Amino acid sequence: MKILITGGAGFIGSNFVHHLCENDDYEIVVLDKLTYAGDLENLNGIRDKIEFVKGAIEDEELVSHLMRDCDMVVNFAAETHVDRSIEDPGVFVKTDVIGTYNLLENVRKYDVERYLQISTDEVYGSIESGSFTEESNLDPSSPYSASKAGGDLLVGAYWKTYDTPVITTRSSNNFGPRQYPEKLIPLFILNAMQNKSLPVYGDGKNVRDWIYVMDNCKGIETALLKGKLGEVYNIGGGNEKNNLEITRLILELLDKPESLITFVEDRLGHDRRYSLDSAKVMKLGWKPEYSFEDALKETVKWYKENYSRYLE
Ligand code: NAD
Repeated sequence: MKILITGGAGFIGSNFVHHLCENDDYEIVVLDKLTYAGDLENLNGIRDKIEFVKGAIEDEELVSHLMRDCDMVVNFAAETHVDRSIEDPGVFVKTDVIGTYNLLENVRKYDVERYLQISTDEVYGSIESGSFTEESNLDPSSPYSASKAGGDLLVGAYWKTYDTPVITTRSSNNFGPRQYPEKLIPLFILNAMQNKSLPVYGDGKNVRDWIYVMDNCKGIETALLKGKLGEVYNIGGGNEKNNLEITRLILELLDKPESLITFVEDRLGHDRRYSLDSAKVMKLGWKPEYSFEDALKETVKWYKENYSRYLE
């Protein structure tokens, strides 16, 4: 079974590759542009088990060459940081929309059995109460989530138009090892370790549903192997917490004072709350295994052990 994993040197992608390498069922090719967020060190310990190719998913010739003999494709490659998308949306459209289009064209051209699009709960927008199901409307708020929604809509259209064998997963906020420290949890862990301030947006009450990255990886594998073609699967951790709660937990685990917290001007278009209904993927036999508190402890431990990688 030959599987192409795009964005496999990034946070979730590399954890997924580590997970797949735990058994010998797969011949793995990783395609990654190695942007600021991608790092070959994320693949330490498994480099001899995989083939790594540096390149972009929007590169027509390269993708065509790589996909020719692949059985499955999982697309993690994306520009992923909301703040960067507000500063410079162009590269988000190029990677998250055009890149997805290029992958889909090649799935269509070759005999690829399954293409899995990795997406996000952010495509649904904000929700005051209740949870989004896979039937909910897409209502993205940022150039990041709009670009992801654009990719998702292309995936759905290729299924309806060409019967392209696609599946989409939309997960909630991931945390865990190997995440580039611009996102809240790794940034705050590393800042706190250096006694730097932890900049919390607005009033800190924005709620996210947090999922440990290994739980998401297992959910992705479940959807890939057992999911029905053409379907979307939400993968949520069931841990709704606001940013201030997370910040306080991190300070507690590192034994640092709350005086490190500073409140900064809110992000433009900042969604108030995300929440996912994951009943559909649970029917395939998946459920989250890690408790939030244990997973956060593990994550803090990992950043302590790998601290030197992230020093400026
Ligand atoms: P990340 O930013 O850590 O990694 C993205 C990877 O993609 C990097 O290795 C980068 O080098 C690579 N990449 C970027 N542009 C590329 C291109 N044009 N061609 C090839 N490679 C390219 O992201 P992540 O947090 O691991 O997210 C992976 C996927 O999961 C994304 O599609 C994201 O939208 C989705 N997602 C993330 C979260 C989260 O909380 N991190 C939640 C839900 C969904």
